[in-house]
Amino acid sequence: MNFLEQRIAKEGIVKPGNVLKVDSFLNHQMDIKLFDEIGAEFARRFEGTNINKILTIEASGIGIAAITALHFPGAKVVFAKKTKSINLDGEMFTAEVESFTHKNVNHVIVSKKFINADDHILLIDDFLANGCAMMGLIQIANQAGASIEGIGIVIEKGFQQGGQIIRNLGYKLESLAIIDAMDANTGGITFRKQ
Ligand code: 5GP
Repeated sequence: MNFLEQRIAKEGIVKPGNVLKVDSFLNHQMDIKLFDEIGAEFARRFEGTNINKILTIEASGIGIAAITALHFPGAKVVFAKKTKSINLDGEMFTAEVESFTHKNVNHVIVSKKFINADDHILLIDDFLANGCAMMGLIQIANQAGASIEGIGIVIEKGFQQGGQIIRNLGYKLESLAIIDAMDANTGGITFRKQ
């Protein structure tokens, strides 16, 4: 098991409905030493790319992206904001994202001031489940004409469809832990060998 899988096995709580709670180190309390190891691992996996910007989505992606940026010298972090209404003044890139955990639809927006066609972007998020959040970020990067150099996920739930959809689109998707099965009754978590 790698450092992240060990932590998930120790502290992750499997909830009914295919939800994994990792509030003690990722989604509520944040273990910054672990985030630093996550950032170093993303830097290793995306070595040789010319990433100058990291794009993520609020809220849980922000801390991860911020610490990861320290491993990509010069890279800025931009986070997509979730909003109920869209402002149609043309100043924003927008996408619709269905929330896996909250079961509602949000518009996500990024100001046109902060990403553009010169950017080489790394997309980051905490979880990949059905892929809606990541597809929203891909749409936004594409609207800007930016190059997507890669996609970094902390925890991919490999039994949901997002990973396959995004890999089939040809993106370099790196998930630091991939869960192939989890059981809310026993609490058991099975990781994919990487
Ligand atoms: P997707 O859009 O791929 O279906 O879901 C990804 C988003 O939903 C992530 O941004 C994450 O915040 C949230 N999410 C999906 N599955 C889980 C889960 O099992 N646990 C937690 N804590 N968040 C999840």
